[in-house]
Amino acid sequence: MTALPSLFITHGAPTLVLDPCPAGDFLRGLTAGIDRPRAILCVSAHWEESSPTATGTAAPETIHDFFGFPEEMYALSYPAPGAPELAQRVLDLLGQAGLGGRMEPLRGLDHGAWVPLSLAWPAADIPVVQLSVQTALGPAHHLALGQALAPLKQDGVLILASGSATHNLRDWHGHRLDGPPADYAAAFADWLDEAVLQDDRGALVDYLSTAPEAQRNHPTPEHFLPLFVALGAGLPGTARKLHGSYTYGVFYMGAYAFD
Ligand code: ZN
Repeated sequence: MTALPSLFITHGAPTLVLDPCPAGDFLRGLTAGIDRPRAILCVSAHWEESSPTATGTAAPETIHDFFGFPEEMYALSYPAPGAPELAQRVLDLLGQAGLGGRMEPLRGLDHGAWVPLSLAWPAADIPVVQLSVQTALGPAHHLALGQALAPLKQDGVLILASGSATHNLRDWHGHRLDGPPADYAAAFADWLDEAVLQDDRGALVDYLSTAPEAQRNHPTPEHFLPLFVALGAGLPGTARKLHGSYTYGVFYMGAYAFD
């Protein structure tokens, strides 16, 4: 098997799993150009821990970690098996890199993981381990995390980092699903595409000072941090843009692959 890429995808609003939109269609077609993974390591913005934490259960439950959404959202489940041996391998790699980490034996998959997984691998027959983000530790830490995990790509494991290219929840309401992009979101999106494709890691790590409207697009950093894991796990100069549409005018649904 050739090495799998590492991916960053934007999950946007939880209802992406139901909303008819180009970003959902993109995820439904995501597997077309990718070998079937042996397992998936999903880094989700919706699991924040102080140190890297991996799900250790063999049967992860589906966590409905959102409030006030349509009833049918709470009936959805993603019954993929876990992969405790992969979780242990993740912790071994992180330990060797001096990044620490621990196993969480009971936790399941949050919507940052199961929403995109449901669209891309609806059969739920590929084992999934979820890995937390460490919001307080910032971009450089997550880049190092990705570098430490890169050997998994040679081993049939797909690193799927799930966050949001732009993520201002306060501005979400009042916009139509297919509404035009907000100027401030488009400015950041254009910058992001260019910085990723040019592999400008310095500018990306310092995005709060180098990107236009960084604070407004990411009032908190946790949805941006998964990008650095996918980037760090990639070889320099191999970035490809997979997708770039908008939902609700404020979520740039950018997605990238790194070989
Ligand atoms: Zn989210």
